[in-house]
Amino acid sequence: MTVAPPDSPEVRRYNRIRRWLGITEFLLGLALLVVILVTGWTSWLRDLAYSSGFQSYPLAVFLYTLMLVVISKVLSLGLDYYSFRLEQRYQLSNQKLRGWAWDQTKELLVEAVLASVLVELLYFIIREFPEHWWVVAWLGFLGVTVLLAQLAPVVLFPIFYKFEPLQDEDLKLRLIRLGERAGTRVRGVYKWHLSEKSKKANAALTGLGNTRRIILADTLLADYSADEIEAILAHELGHHVHRHIPKGIALQTVITLIGFWAANWALQYAVHRWHMFETLSDFANLPLLALIFVLLSFVLMPALNAFSRYNERQADRYAFENIANISSFVSSMNKLADQNLAERTPSRWVEWLLHSHPAIARRIAAAEGWAKAHAG
Ligand SMILES: [Zn+2]
Repeated sequence: MTVAPPDSPEVRRYNRIRRWLGITEFLLGLALLVVILVTGWTSWLRDLAYSSGFQSYPLAVFLYTLMLVVISKVLSLGLDYYSFRLEQRYQLSNQKLRGWAWDQTKELLVEAVLASVLVELLYFIIREFPEHWWVVAWLGFLGVTVLLAQLAPVVLFPIFYKFEPLQDEDLKLRLIRLGERAGTRVRGVYKWHLSEKSKKANAALTGLGNTRRIILADTLLADYSADEIEAILAHELGHHVHRHIPKGIALQTVITLIGFWAANWALQYAVHRWHMFETLSDFANLPLLALIFVLLSFVLMPALNAFSRYNERQADRYAFENIANISSFVSSMNKLADQNLAERTPSRWVEWLLHSHPAIARRIAAAEGWAKAHAG
């Protein structure tokens, strides 16, 4: 079995900076929520929203949400700019400042629209069902999650990237053969125009029902051999065959239920014991609800990443079983690591805490182990 080459200092440094950026961004978001709750600024923002919203409750909810979205964007803008510069510094970006600024604007608009719809829905439910709001809200959010998973590839992703059906006949034929062997059909394979912004390569399985599709970055289609692309397609098909998207939604549904239960508990305490807010429907308590969900996802992050790594190993195994030659899988992994400056051997705790994918060295070792076990 080949031993993975050690990661260069450059790769180590790039990944270390990215980790710190992620941690700083998380802490900044957390600090924002805590500060506006503790200082009472949230009540001040609520009053401002009421007075600018003609004392109308729905309009005030909308304005309050908008202010929160804008404040958090302004706070994180410095970090966003730093990570844009980081990608340029490591020659991973094809984006100019103008394009980046336009992307940030679009991101802000999408966030504002999604957040205001969700928050309006949430406080409508709290007002209509003060007793069991958290169960009703949970059901509502389950519906929204399914809808978003279905719409994402056709509505959300195209806001930021161009997609087109894959034209390459040879690759299409390979996918059909892979699919037939699996007794399944994926609706489509799309070329993802990633190169307008990045030099990195990537592929993914997205969508739900009739929007289910595999997307392949144009950077990958340009520089990888047909066998390597087939290995990556087989991995993505493995996600489809093992139903990883519905399983992920099911897991998220359970976590959201715990989240709403805890949110209700915290809200009851804040209103009845601590007298922080007059009523449950006082939307100045939104940062408290957000805080519960942020803390819950932080606590569960290692478990969710472990679940994701388990799925990735399953998809890898599916690829091993369905491609002609393991060496094309191994070479595609090596190419991806080089191109994306990914660490082949991150430290164990970094992988355990933060990585949604097994370390590349481990994926390659698994592939070689599989080939050895199935030789002849
Ligand atoms: Zn995967």
